[in-house]
Amino acid sequence: MTEEQLDLLAPHQPDEHFVIRESARAKHMAINVGAHGVVEVVVPRHTRPKIVQEFVAQHRQWIDRALSELEKDRPPIKRAMPDVIELAAIDRRWTVQYGSKRLQEIGGTVHVPAIHEDRPQCRQHLQQWLKNTAREHLVPRLNGLAEETGFHYKKVQVRGQRTRWGSYSSSGTLSLNYCLLFLQPELVKHLMMHELCHTREMSHSRRFWRLLGEYQPDFRSLERRLDGAWIDVPGWVGLH
Ligand SMILES: [Zn+2]
Repeated sequence: MTEEQLDLLAPHQPDEHFVIRESARAKHMAINVGAHGVVEVVVPRHTRPKIVQEFVAQHRQWIDRALSELEKDRPPIKRAMPDVIELAAIDRRWTVQYGSKRLQEIGGTVHVPAIHEDRPQCRQHLQQWLKNTAREHLVPRLNGLAEETGFHYKKVQVRGQRTRWGSYSSSGTLSLNYCLLFLQPELVKHLMMHELCHTREMSHSRRFWRLLGEYQPDFRSLERRLDGAWIDVPGWVGLH
């Protein structure tokens, strides 16, 4: 039950998110609509994709109704495009306006060249803007930190990884996730130190943690906070 099958479930709305979960215990198929608009289809093991597809088609109306109920109750922040963007990492706040000619930032306003209702387009532009903003603000911070601590890397990359805040590859590229912009500055600094330490110790070995501990004595609790910090990334970013 994987991607292939998800493809069969062509979503009605662009924001819809289906998850198919095989369960050893399930005797029948069931559909749950979760609080974040995730439609979970629970199926007994070895159910054929076509059967799942038919089951979803039969329950289409019910799913749509459940999703729109959800939309009604929910404060609009989760799925709708934002009117305000707050980036805790750099302590700044922007208002957002839609329907401009091109993507640009004027004063404290981000102008997005798509109408508010066209979420996929808006999302794409705002992701681009986040990337630019991260390059402008986070990369210099990383460079400064590297200079201070004497770590070296070849290249920095800003990306929108779905599951990681950052990474370091043996080829010497350090990657930062632009979603770091939504986190508290001390967490961003910690992630940067973590990746910088990887320039010396690739794996999460004991030596690695010892090294990180020299710079971040409180690294255990910071790591835990980082793990839970995805909750600070607003839903409109569209990465999870
Ligand atoms: Zn690591």
